[in-house]
Amino acid sequence: MRLDRLRENALAVTRAAAPTARLIPMVKANAYGLGVEAVVRALAGPSSPGEPWAFGVATVAEGEALRGLGWQGRVLVFAPPPPGELRRAAHAGLTPCLSDLDSVAHWARLAGELGETLPFHLEVDTGMGRAGLLWDRVDEWGPAVTAAAAGRLRWEGCFTHFHSADEPDLAPTDLQWDRFVHALDHLPAAVREGLVVHVANSAAALRRGGFGVPLVRPGIYLYGGGAGEGAIPRPVASLRARLALVKEVPAGATVGYGATYTARRPERWGSVAIGYGDGLPRALATGGGEVIVHGARAPIIGRISMDVTTIDLTGLPDARPGDVVTLIGRDGAEEIGVDEVARRCGTISYEILTGLTARLPRVYLEGDAEEWAPRGGPGNPPV
Ligand SMILES: *Cc1c(COP(=O)(O)O)cnc(C)c1O
Repeated sequence: MRLDRLRENALAVTRAAAPTARLIPMVKANAYGLGVEAVVRALAGPSSPGEPWAFGVATVAEGEALRGLGWQGRVLVFAPPPPGELRRAAHAGLTPCLSDLDSVAHWARLAGELGETLPFHLEVDTGMGRAGLLWDRVDEWGPAVTAAAAGRLRWEGCFTHFHSADEPDLAPTDLQWDRFVHALDHLPAAVREGLVVHVANSAAALRRGGFGVPLVRPGIYLYGGGAGEGAIPRPVASLRARLALVKEVPAGATVGYGATYTARRPERWGSVAIGYGDGLPRALATGGGEVIVHGARAPIIGRISMDVTTIDLTGLPDARPGDVVTLIGRDGAEEIGVDEVARRCGTISYEILTGLTARLPRVYLEGDAEEWAPRGGPGNPPV
């Protein structure tokens, strides 16, 4: 993957929100499958486009891993942590995002035990439903959270999460924003004044200017996935494998489990050293999936196996074992984006990227370094 483009995308999403905006890069799920260590170093290191305000993760274990990498800044844990994990969160110096009064009380008890003032952010549910306190019950929970936190906790932030900011119609997103503002307005004034707020995912940052809030939480756009109409990032990840075998087959030959594909005429098939065991979804084959070889597209034929994917090379007489096959990325004039692969699989870029398994070596490049040897060479070329 291209770290320089990751940083370019980070800069673009920052600028879209506000000239002075700061990022909470979302690095959950191993930085959307691309490798959290390299991503954190690229975004927080000397070449970073601006020191992140925090990193966002989903779980306490992911937060602990960031500490293991040496990141000493804020870590926000966004998924509601199961009660048993709050103690570990406190020990690792993480900032949990809390969604209910019991968790706030639990966090306050831990603060008392440790003799520390522990920070937390509170999620407001404006329609996402999976977490957060309901926006229109703020008059009940606002004072209750304030009381539970008093003396022990630092109520640092308040946020909500949009469910449809990447859809053509932004009206539901605007409605969620209005609900969030309502909730903020109804918090005790002394609390409200001390809070930082953050609302925008990639899509809302790029398509709604982050509602002017100078703290944004982008994920997919950083990693090269589109975030809705008009929010197209620089591509970041490529997925490449090598041709392992090329063979001429007669009409009537079949390929793959279920023998779902039959050669209609004499054809030239290539076996590529990648399969669903690497995270290449089986659904790609039925969705008309293609790859690029020698700068030309070739169709995937038959079912994708765990370790091997077969392609039709009939139009490519020069292709031979060792050649690079591009499943995501550019080769010559052709390019297959992660969003194209996702569409063919009936899913989203997030699922494609987070599905890439540990068997694929991740290789990190800066600038226009030669991405791959077009022919030969040992092993598979990198993601
Ligand atoms: C994952 C996540 C984001 C990032 O969303 P993208 O669509 O990837 O930009 C932001 N906020 C929260 C709470 C998330 O869970």
